[in-house]
Amino acid sequence: MQLIFEKSKEGRRAIVLDPLDVPEAELPSELRRKEAAALPEVSELDIVRHFTLLSQRNFGIDSHFYPLGSCTMKYNPKIAEVVAALPGFAHLHPHLSTSEALWDRCQGALELTQRFEGLLAEIAGMEEVSLQPIAGAHGELAGTLLMAAYHRDKGHTHKTKIIIPDSAHGTNPASAAIAGFDIVEVPSGPDGMIDFEAYSKAMDDDVAGVMTTCPNTHGLFEKRIDEIAKLAHKHDALLYYDGANLNAIMGKCRPGDLGFDVMHYNVHKTFATPHGMGGPGCGPVGVGAKLAPYLPGPRVIKQEDGRFGLAMPEKSIGRMAPFFGNFMMAVRGYAYIRHLGGEGLKEVSEAAVLNANYIHARLKGAYQSAFDGRFMHECVFSATAQAAKGAKAVDIAKAVLDYGMHAPTVYFPLTVKESIMIEPTETESRETLDAFCDAMLEIADAAEKEDGAFADSPRKTPVGRLDEVRAAKELNCVY
Ligand SMILES: *Cc1c(COP(=O)(O)O)cnc(C)c1O
Repeated sequence: MQLIFEKSKEGRRAIVLDPLDVPEAELPSELRRKEAAALPEVSELDIVRHFTLLSQRNFGIDSHFYPLGSCTMKYNPKIAEVVAALPGFAHLHPHLSTSEALWDRCQGALELTQRFEGLLAEIAGMEEVSLQPIAGAHGELAGTLLMAAYHRDKGHTHKTKIIIPDSAHGTNPASAAIAGFDIVEVPSGPDGMIDFEAYSKAMDDDVAGVMTTCPNTHGLFEKRIDEIAKLAHKHDALLYYDGANLNAIMGKCRPGDLGFDVMHYNVHKTFATPHGMGGPGCGPVGVGAKLAPYLPGPRVIKQEDGRFGLAMPEKSIGRMAPFFGNFMMAVRGYAYIRHLGGEGLKEVSEAAVLNANYIHARLKGAYQSAFDGRFMHECVFSATAQAAKGAKAVDIAKAVLDYGMHAPTVYFPLTVKESIMIEPTETESRETLDAFCDAMLEIADAAEKEDGAFADSPRKTPVGRLDEVRAAKELNCVY
């Protein structure tokens, strides 16, 4: 495909301005260009075709099966887009939230914020939720800052450590470290669960909190989560729930009931708002009663006259984001939840778990299952047998691209060698799951028959195999 600069023809224009009908004013000379900007000279149709064709080379959930594990790339229902496009939401000016005199003009947005926070709290068994954080990792930072604020307030100056299992997403230790804590890593056992003995040994009165994901990033429900919570609370440590996998348990059990004190939600995963390429995310933080006074703000409150307003909680850790956070994601998440209702959300979790187990059942003869337990909404394999024949997890991922599907997650979780992590989500049909499994089986078959079968994959994509190290080190290199 040609670059748009290669299509440029001198003098060709997409837009021609009308003749000037006001007196011409000179721009100050220091603001004027010395040379014309090096822009491509193309017609409007050239531009439209160029970018439409480029966009068709992209992988997205609206165009391709996208089985990335841990990321939850599920379909984003269009009804949520219709709701978000309502002029009252779409044209909302962010500054309306900044002054009391303007609150009258954004009552609907304030009410939706409060309602959405209430639904999230109910779904996860939390007392209060704040929509401020704008990504899962940002919610983690809010959560760990809340833990710090709580312990500081209680005079627990000795509490400097946070326990995190080795299966955790890398953002967990990063967030806790930014919040000022020392990280204590505990290993997973061969069953893929937190090694309870190691956890008990790591636990003491200096521990401020424990961060876990449940189901964890091995796709397994932590069977001893009850004991983990009890031991943490015995030492006045707070239990943090990484909500990235909440889509496996909605309507089945609630983190709050399991003993979690603080959590983040990934609205862009669990509640089907668009994501990828870094945003826009929505990572609300939820808390039990203990931490509610410290929540980030300002928070939406109902005033005595029945109108909605904003107020900063007394002991708030402060703002995490400007204005309402990523408010338009809240509109989509709210529409999604209201569209499905309680029973619908439960079915989402059930179908997500069923689909992952269907894939696991079809592939476990060809790829080594990473764990013996039953998987929840995602399953993990180890491609060590294939790697021995020169088809590493990365080669298998590249081979999948030639079937017109996105690759599954590879090399995460870090605890599994040559890991391939697959999350089909609830929104895919049996036919799509079968097409993916057929492709994976064909790939395993070819890997066994021929050494290094996929060393040059992908072969059918517009861009072939890249030298990833060089691409990362020389951002400007041309292939
Ligand atoms: C995605 C994810 C995160 C981080 O969430 P972002 O919204 O990407 O910042 C944290 N933990 C787990 C397990 C995840 O999958």
